[in-house]
Amino acid sequence: MNNTPEISIVIPVFNEEDCLTNLIYRLLAVMQETGRDYELIFVNDGSTDRTSELLNAFYEDHPDKVTLIEFNGNYGQYTAICAGFEQVRGIKVVTLDADLQNPPEEIPKLLQKMDEGHDYVGGIRCKRKDNLMRRWCSKAINSIREKTTQIKITDQGCMMRAYSRSIVDAIAQAQEKSVFISALAYKYASNPAE
Ligand code: UDP
Ligand code: MG
Repeated sequence: MNNTPEISIVIPVFNEEDCLTNLIYRLLAVMQETGRDYELIFVNDGSTDRTSELLNAFYEDHPDKVTLIEFNGNYGQYTAICAGFEQVRGIKVVTLDADLQNPPEEIPKLLQKMDEGHDYVGGIRCKRKDNLMRRWCSKAINSIREKTTQIKITDQGCMMRAYSRSIVDAIAQAQEKSVFISALAYKYASNPAE
């Protein structure tokens, strides 16, 4: 395995047996298309379905490309992402969800922005099917956060994001108990983009 791939992709996974095969197939296709050297880091957050079996089979097939972290229980998405951050070897890091709400085909757009010199690029979910209440809550949270921290993020819940390695290392070292990864990354970024 190349010790320093260009890209590390970190994916937290909890009970995603229905999506995993499709996700992996699409990820491999899109990353091959980019021609960039990459690694995939899956963190199985205590899944109780066939997620572990599927991830282990994928690891067996691609030990050079895949790192698999298995939690002994369910600790939550952000804890899983942080565990992945501790293992990254890439120069740039991408996070995305396993349930295909973040299409892997969007990864090249994030990387393009990184190539343009941004050290943190946030994705925005365009076709969200959230109800009125959830949209209202998001707006309220965004407004409070902007007023109190000056951090402007259109869609802080979207984990389709790209970060420079230094930002990821800073987050991993911060050891925050309740991590708001999107806002924390913004804090460490010098040239963020969405
Ligand atoms: N996830 C996780 N641990 C959990 C819940 C979710 O690792 O306890 C993963 C999940 O498999 C997915 C991502 O985190 O890859 C986002 O989860 P979900 O789709 O439930 O969140 P939402 O779409 O509501 O933001
Ligand atoms: Mg989801």
